[in-house]
Amino acid sequence: MDLSKHINSAHQSFQDWRKTPFEERQKLLLKLADVLDKNKEAYAKIITTEMHKPISQSIAEIEKSAGMIWFYANAENVLKPTEIKTEFNVSEVHYDAMGIILGVMPWNFPFWQVLRFAVPAILAGNVILLKHASICFGSGDEIEKAFAEAGFPKNIFQNLRIGHNEIQEILENPLVRGVSLTGSEKAGATVAALAGKNIKKSVLELGGSDAFIVLEDSDYEKAAIDGPAGKLQNTGQVCNAAKRFIIHRDIEGKFLPKFIEEYNSYQPADPFKKETKLGKMARPDLADELESQYKKALKNGAEVVLALERISENEFRPGIIRVQEGNPILQEELFGPLAILMVGKNDDEILKLANDIPFGLGNAVWTKDKKRAQFFIENLESGTVSINKSTSSDARLPFGGAKSSGYGVELSLLAIKEFTQIKTVVGN
Ligand code: NAP
Repeated sequence: MDLSKHINSAHQSFQDWRKTPFEERQKLLLKLADVLDKNKEAYAKIITTEMHKPISQSIAEIEKSAGMIWFYANAENVLKPTEIKTEFNVSEVHYDAMGIILGVMPWNFPFWQVLRFAVPAILAGNVILLKHASICFGSGDEIEKAFAEAGFPKNIFQNLRIGHNEIQEILENPLVRGVSLTGSEKAGATVAALAGKNIKKSVLELGGSDAFIVLEDSDYEKAAIDGPAGKLQNTGQVCNAAKRFIIHRDIEGKFLPKFIEEYNSYQPADPFKKETKLGKMARPDLADELESQYKKALKNGAEVVLALERISENEFRPGIIRVQEGNPILQEELFGPLAILMVGKNDDEILKLANDIPFGLGNAVWTKDKKRAQFFIENLESGTVSINKSTSSDARLPFGGAKSSGYGVELSLLAIKEFTQIKTVVGN
């Protein structure tokens, strides 16, 4: 592919787009939300065909994306110059669009992840090149068409059907000003190093292994239903889903039977049937990896609570393992229908278990005691702490990781400024 042709045409479009008023850009976003709404069944079929998510969850992904676009279409203009009182007649902060931003995106939410990054960046006056996951090029094409159908100027959003070895050439081009990657730590580190070498801004949204903490004073019956739903949505392939269930030992006997029964009610079925709750994993090699992590955990002393059973090249009956501190599996992300169970004797020990991982995306704590909740809010090392609910992203609230889960902000009004150049204007 002639990458420079795409970069030059994006740059051309940027010259007008950066001068288009914020409110004009918002009008086009409103149309984009309508396009998604209108085509949601068709888009959902493409998602399920490409990465095997249950169709009802594919439809929900498009609806959530349309809601997020609607949020930005109605958002306050946070890019207006802000005045700062000084001894000068003029002292202002301006937020200029940066130019071409590259998105390197994963397959697990083929529309949501792309649009979550692209929409606030476009609203800020930037233009986008997308390098989608190689199994989701069809989704990438449809997103490009959706921008065209909504009436956006040509080349504001371009889907490039390229492999990840072509990212380097794009980031070396001086017209490309930044990159946002959602994906694994390995891909994140590689792309951030390339961006650093070329002195370009990067945002990284990487993996997680979030804790779902259930204390003895909580509504643990509700937690026993919400926990499996959070973990097993998208066939366990969600960055900020509960992956480690850390339970206060006093409720082990009451919580676990309900939790296991609920968890086991998720069984793989045809992803195209509306009632299916658990689909297939996205690729057979990812299923191989999950299976080898399961064996590694067991070899290092983990106990089987519910056996992970592979029933086809990319389908499992979901499993749960009970893991003790020190098991090396705790340092890894389990991206599939396999959960970790741990038990702690008090809040200090539970906190230590929760934080003893390289990642930090969205931990959850269940308790009725505000003081205990506060202790966890202050001490959990993650970008989000959810109280008495599963963690899930919300367009109105910032989303991002701590530690090896990445850096930078997506969603909320803050994301509009993420790919802008701050310009100080000062003088008399
Ligand atoms: P992935 O293998 O890292 O792929 C993500 C993107 O990076 C794809 O476009 C991929 O292209 C590209 N890529 C892969 N290896 C690369 C390399 N060495 N250099 C440059 N680019 C590379 O991740 P995935 O399997 O698609 O997604 C699952 C991971 O994403 C999990 O770790 C999950 O936790 C994380 N994730 C994080 C968030 C968040 O918001 N924090 C959200 C969703 C997912 P190819 O397909 O061409 O290889």
